Amino acid sequence: MRGEPAAAEASVTLQQPEARRAFSRGSCPRITGAWPWRAAPAPENILERIHFHIVPSRDADMCTSKSCITHQKFAMTLYEQCVCRSCGASSDPLPFTEFVRYISTTALCNEVERMMERHERSKPEMFAELLQAANTTDDYRKCPSNCGQKIKIRRVLMNCPEIVTIGLVWDSEHSDLTEDVVRNLATHLYLPGLFYRVTDENAKNSELHLVGMICYTSRHYCAFAFHTKSSKWVFFDDANVKESTGSRRMGFSSCGMRAQ
Ligand SMILES: [Zn+2]
Ligand SMILES: [Zn+2]
Repeated sequence: MRGEPAAAEASVTLQQPEARRAFSRGSCPRITGAWPWRAAPAPENILERIHFHIVPSRDADMCTSKSCITHQKFAMTLYEQCVCRSCGASSDPLPFTEFVRYISTTALCNEVERMMERHERSKPEMFAELLQAANTTDDYRKCPSNCGQKIKIRRVLMNCPEIVTIGLVWDSEHSDLTEDVVRNLATHLYLPGLFYRVTDENAKNSELHLVGMICYTSRHYCAFAFHTKSSKWVFFDDANVKESTGSRRMGFSSCGMRAQ
């Protein structure tokens, strides 16, 4: 979910096939590729706990403490708005803070399939667009002035988070999409592609690199993190830490993408 302070530079050197090999060949037999929707809020709980340990007196929604790792490094400040292309009506912008952007693996794989049907080749720079498309699939709202149009909600990012966490959610306990997801997972993410628009100048050029991955399945968490000095992926399973040789079937829960 987060890298060591120097991880960003080292992760630049990571070649995509290396990461894919690390995640797709197995060393953890317990990982079977499932994260039901209900288990999803766990990463937020951890981040909120860190916030309350550092700044116990502050309201989590209003935290501006420079020492709060949770809000300084992970928080995405967004607003949502519906704008009707037909009649021009727009809803009031709804601002909120988010730590994890959740995306259904089923929707992601459907978007990859649609892209293939358009005969476009999967390129790493398209990963953010794919995630955004998967995130907004079937996410239609009624026109704010009820003109009859159905419109997609716009999500606008207002800050430039240092670490962006993507939660990949499995729609069933026995998803067979694991290999498809691993194959299409990019290790670089162009931040503006993830949202309808970004307003922060730094965010407009922000490119993120995969530095960590937390997996949840069968009520157990384990994690992969990119080790800067050795330029290798390291696998954490409770007290066991070893160089990653991957897992045949794996359930990602959160991918931490860190700014360059
Ligand atoms: Zn905070
Ligand atoms: Zn309208």
